[in-house]
Amino acid sequence: MLIVKKFGGTSVGNKERILNVAKRCIEDYEKGNDVVVVLSAMGKMTDDLIKMAKDINPNPSKREMDMLLTTGEQTSVALMAMAMNALGVPAVSLNAFQVAMHTTHAYSNARIKRIDTDRVNNELEQRKIVIITGFQGVDRNENYTTLGRGGSDTTAVALAAALNADSCEIYTDVDGVYTADPRKVENAKKLKEITYDEMLEMATLGAGVLHNRSVELAKKHGVQLVVRSSLTKEEGTVVKERVARGKSEISGVAGDDDAARIAILGLEDTPGVAFKVFNVLAKKNVNIDIILQSVGEPGKKDISFTVKQEDAELAVNTLRDYMSEDDYRDIDVTTNVAKVSIVGRGLKDHAGMAARMFEALYEAGVNIRMISTSEIRVTVIVEEKDMVKAMNAAHDAFEL
Ligand code: ASP
Ligand code: MG
Repeated sequence: MLIVKKFGGTSVGNKERILNVAKRCIEDYEKGNDVVVVLSAMGKMTDDLIKMAKDINPNPSKREMDMLLTTGEQTSVALMAMAMNALGVPAVSLNAFQVAMHTTHAYSNARIKRIDTDRVNNELEQRKIVIITGFQGVDRNENYTTLGRGGSDTTAVALAAALNADSCEIYTDVDGVYTADPRKVENAKKLKEITYDEMLEMATLGAGVLHNRSVELAKKHGVQLVVRSSLTKEEGTVVKERVARGKSEISGVAGDDDAARIAILGLEDTPGVAFKVFNVLAKKNVNIDIILQSVGEPGKKDISFTVKQEDAELAVNTLRDYMSEDDYRDIDVTTNVAKVSIVGRGLKDHAGMAARMFEALYEAGVNIRMISTSEIRVTVIVEEKDMVKAMNAAHDAFEL
């Protein structure tokens, strides 16, 4: 069997943890398997590197930023190879350049295009454990790129697909995917299985367990994932195309307090207004989440939408710059809002799921500011102070 194992930053945060990971990989190796290991930077090293950069230059070039951040993962893989060697096992570390992990040119947010497998296969044939840097790639001009925060998961899945691996295991500091964040919802339970689509919604909603692009890629290539803890031997959660689900139509509840709501009041009620607003925002790369348009005073309309908190200022400044003062009456920004979502395949086949959520929130005394739905998700915007209460109410209502 060829096994790809990915370990996150906390799993390789210090010497003991590195040795623990080395031993777990060696167990598989000694059973005769080929083992490829993908690592993140140790502990908070990526955050620390970002701080160092900003301290020297508040506005560092994106190229140099990626050049700097790739050193985090390079540190982990080299130390891991040394650890395995110390335990008497042949191992070799490779960075994105040495593997040849080809990505697009978009610094800090590159996408993997193609991975050369010759070097890796060659090393595996020599019965070495191959340890590869996560999160990084190389563009057409041989510049280092990175895949976005949390991107090592995506490296692991892309490698599993390229190498045709038999299994892809993502090790983190939690023991699987839960019905909700256990720190916020006490009754949260670990899921045995979850579909790619549900996981993708959960990851995008900020569940934080997997990089959302890694789930997209796993679905595309049919790579079955196992999410489990590096610190215990518990079984973890399997992410795959289809799952057998018991009584619940909902698989989880997500909460995300990194949201800001922007309302543009008193816009002209004529064609092209929404286009104008969202076109200027798109040009500035502001990612829009939930959009609501409503009727305002006679002949007027209001448009509200949510963005990540860090984008709120840019969004408002952009709108003020590009629209003239008689285009609207006022722009209002609220940062103390949060998103609460329920996710599940059952939503598309069962009527009344959204109503059940709204009833639970009503009973908990939570006011809903905005609503948005997809085939397998219902999201509401609530006040930030109500987020945890709303998550618990929804979780209880669906008896998760
Ligand atoms: N080290 C990178 C980060 O902190 C990538 C990863 O951990 O997946 O975002
Ligand atoms: Mg991660």
